Formats: sequence, structure tokens, C-alpha cells
Amino acid sequence: MPTFVRTDKCDGCKGQDKTACMYICPHDLMKLDKDGSETGHAMKSYNQEPEQCWECYSCVKICPQNAIEARHYADVVPLGGSVQPLRGSDSIMWTIKFRNGTMKRFRFPIRTTPEGSIEPYAGKAEANMAKISENGFFNHMEQNGYRAGNPDELICK
Ligand code: SF4
Ligand code: SF4
Repeated sequence: MPTFVRTDKCDGCKGQDKTACMYICPHDLMKLDKDGSETGHAMKSYNQEPEQCWECYSCVKICPQNAIEARHYADVVPLGGSVQPLRGSDSIMWTIKFRNGTMKRFRFPIRTTPEGSIEPYAGKAEANMAKISENGFFNHMEQNGYRAGNPDELICK
């Protein structure tokens, strides 16, 4: 199911040049219609190409206004149903709305450690940003070769 922006909730990320949904979309699909010339809704974002949507829901989760829903294509499932996640610090609450008005909610944990406690390098050498434009992985020397971790674990040496 691709994403759908609720114009009654979207605030255009308060007029910033790049909205949160534009920033996060890996496929560059979200667009802010600044003057309303494309959708009739000025300062609201929209999914430019729903058929190209990866359905990763990154935009749904990052939207500070909780304005983006996941909806079926209208020609596959007539409008009326929706799926909307609400991200918390340790779980996501999914709200499922059926066409007949039935509403169901599910809460799923999304992490096992407190928010902000992750150690991304965890004892490994940090990435060397000076090497980011070189071929190969920019931290492979620090990680003893192209594969991070213990070389003895490799099946083919
Ligand atoms: S992130 Fe949400 S509030 Fe901001 S522009 Fe996108 S849909 Fe609107
Ligand atoms: S669900 Fe993913 S691919 Fe689709 S518009 Fe949102 S961020 Fe982009």
C-alpha cells in the first residue's frame, strides 16, 4: 500500500525547504506543493508517484504531524480503509481502519534497548571519513579487510 498525505493534518513542516518526508524518502517521491498548483492544497506534501512507492513507510513514521497514512490503491480497494503507524520511543502503534468503520489497534515493540543507548561502533574502529571517496569500504582497513568481524568465521578464505 502506498502512502497518502492527509491535508487536514499536514502542516508542510512549517514551510521548511525540505520537509521531513522529503528528507527521508529513499525514492524521492514526497514533494511539497508550495503554491497548491499541483494538488490544489498549498503547503501540503504529497506522494508524486504512488505506483513507485517502496512502501517502506519511512515517511509515515517520521512525519511529526502523523499526517501520512498507508492506503490501498482506489482501483484495487475502494477508499475508506487505512493503516497508520504511530511511532513511540519503544514501540509502534498500528491503527487499522476498515471500510465499515471498524478500528483495530496493535502495539509492537521496536527495540530491546532504551532509546539513545545504542553504541554504533561497539568496540570497533570508527569509520574514517577521509576515505569516504576512495574505492572499497571506507573503514575496511580498520576492520581488518573487507569483511567486518572475525576472519576466522569466513567459510572461504
Ligand atoms: S513530514 Fe508530514 S507534516 Fe511534514 S510535509 Fe510531510 S506530510 Fe506534511
Ligand atoms: S513509503 Fe517509503 S518509498 Fe513510499 S513515499 Fe514513503 S518514504 Fe517514500
